[in-house]
Amino acid sequence: MLHAARCQAERFGYQEIEVPVVEPEALVERGVGGDTDVVRKEIYRIQPMVEGGGTPLVLRPEATAGIVRAYFEGNLNQGPQPVRLWTAGSMFRHDRPQAGRYRQFQQFDVEAIGDPGAAFDAEVVELTWGWYRDLGVEGLTLELNSIGDARCRPAYLERLRDYFVAYRDRLGADDQRRLETNPLRLLDSKEPALVELREGAPRITDFLCDECVAHWDEVRSLLDAAGIGYRLNPYLVRGLDYYTRTVWEYQHESLGGAQNSLGGGGRYDGLAEALGYPPTPAVGFAGGLDRIVLVLDAQRGGPRGRPAADLLLLPDGEGLEVAAATVARHARTATSVAADYSRRSLRAKMRAASRSGARWVAIMNPDEAGRRVVQLRELDSGEQREVTWADLPAALAPGTHPGDLA
Ligand code: AMP
Repeated sequence: MLHAARCQAERFGYQEIEVPVVEPEALVERGVGGDTDVVRKEIYRIQPMVEGGGTPLVLRPEATAGIVRAYFEGNLNQGPQPVRLWTAGSMFRHDRPQAGRYRQFQQFDVEAIGDPGAAFDAEVVELTWGWYRDLGVEGLTLELNSIGDARCRPAYLERLRDYFVAYRDRLGADDQRRLETNPLRLLDSKEPALVELREGAPRITDFLCDECVAHWDEVRSLLDAAGIGYRLNPYLVRGLDYYTRTVWEYQHESLGGAQNSLGGGGRYDGLAEALGYPPTPAVGFAGGLDRIVLVLDAQRGGPRGRPAADLLLLPDGEGLEVAAATVARHARTATSVAADYSRRSLRAKMRAASRSGARWVAIMNPDEAGRRVVQLRELDSGEQREVTWADLPAALAPGTHPGDLA
């Protein structure tokens, strides 16, 4: 999964960056927003063992704020823009652990910092869409919305508040507070009452200023040109002021209900300023790896590991360890190889090999070892032929079938 992330990021010219796992509390609070569930309920604070010691620290719940800080502190803002970066690693959020929601989970992050152009919103969508495609995720839904910017959003928020105020007594305590502090969040609430009420609420896309409309139109036409299907979702929001314009989310129904988000992204032109740096436009994405495992397992009808090796070497007989290690050494110049040194029967080794998901097996008895050959079999097709040790790397090259060398 990480390999696919790296390949896809590199294909788009994104460079890897590593940022700290332990961060100052202030950076995370400003980056994630003091009034979000993440900061209010989910942050792990680190208590130093020494009395009254030092800067309050937390385990990072996301990586974007750390990457934006690195962009400035590492003078990446001085070079050509935008700066395209990616990272992957552990994030931490306190919650009741359940399927798809863990205290420690892995994220793939992609950030394009330093350019306001809609082309970068579309680029990050295309990159991440392709990542899911490369992983074989089927049935992915991309939801898309624009939430305007500092020019047009305030007037919209007033209208939204006016709308919901009339229904205040139907809102829970948390939502009544959000009505005052952050009415946008009412739109993505999972509360049944709100899901019903929001149907009649004003829609942000009807309130966008001319610049935001132009940006929104461009993002959609770039995605159309890329052949990426999406669903417009007027209730998809990011509850923080620093988010601007495009927001999107990848959803998968097999995750069900509250955990159906596989990943999400958005433009965050106001974040750098919120962190105390000069205003700098940027767009980014964060996608969880753990939930992809759940989706792929559901798709395949149960958990299935990736094959540990492409070729399994099956020595059939006693005293073949040196020969098997030599063959493996040859074959590793072409692909990944593991040998089954167990004393099981060949039948049992074959059964295990089929279950492992390996593409090939190479069988070798003492007579074949003496002649420096193996029986190379492609498991899916059942095609098999004798190959010399020297020819093995060529026979294993991508796109080769046993018959090709006959
Ligand atoms: P967010 O940073 O909240 O937009 O989350 C981005 C993605 O990270 C989500 O779509 C999930 O795939 C993943 N994610 C967030 N929180 C968790 C968690 N507690 N456990 C597992 N994955 C998570």
